[in-house]
Amino acid sequence: MDNCLFCKIVAGEIPADIVYQDHDVLAFRDIHPQAPQHILIVPRRHIPSMADLTLEDSSVLARIFMTGARLARDLGLENGYRFVTNVGPDAGQSVLHLHFHLLGGRRLGWPPG
Ligand code: 5GP
Ligand code: ZN
Repeated sequence: MDNCLFCKIVAGEIPADIVYQDHDVLAFRDIHPQAPQHILIVPRRHIPSMADLTLEDSSVLARIFMTGARLARDLGLENGYRFVTNVGPDAGQSVLHLHFHLLGGRRLGWPPG
């Protein structure tokens, strides 16, 4: 997708602090971390948001969640973490390329703001 920030990061056109990548997914540090550990996990393929998922995305979605769980273990988040995706303006989605936030390393309030 032209003009998609995360497609450009996937393509290596914009630098990012990448912590994991494979055939389907890329994980990199958020540029404005909201917790001591704040990683974004995205599919390489452009999917605008969770609202656009189809059954064909099942395996990439499983891989995204498994990557989140493994990174949480690797980062020492044994006390817990949050794994969230924002959809649309009310949730504050600012990049229209599906991404999950892995947040941890501090006590996370609930409900979120
Ligand atoms: P959203 O608000 O759409 O759920 O999340 C987008 C996230 O992308 C935000 O947490 C924001 O800090 C992060 N972000 C925006 N631009 C960049 C960038 O150029 N590089 C990285 N690594 N993260 C970014
Ligand atoms: Zn994209």
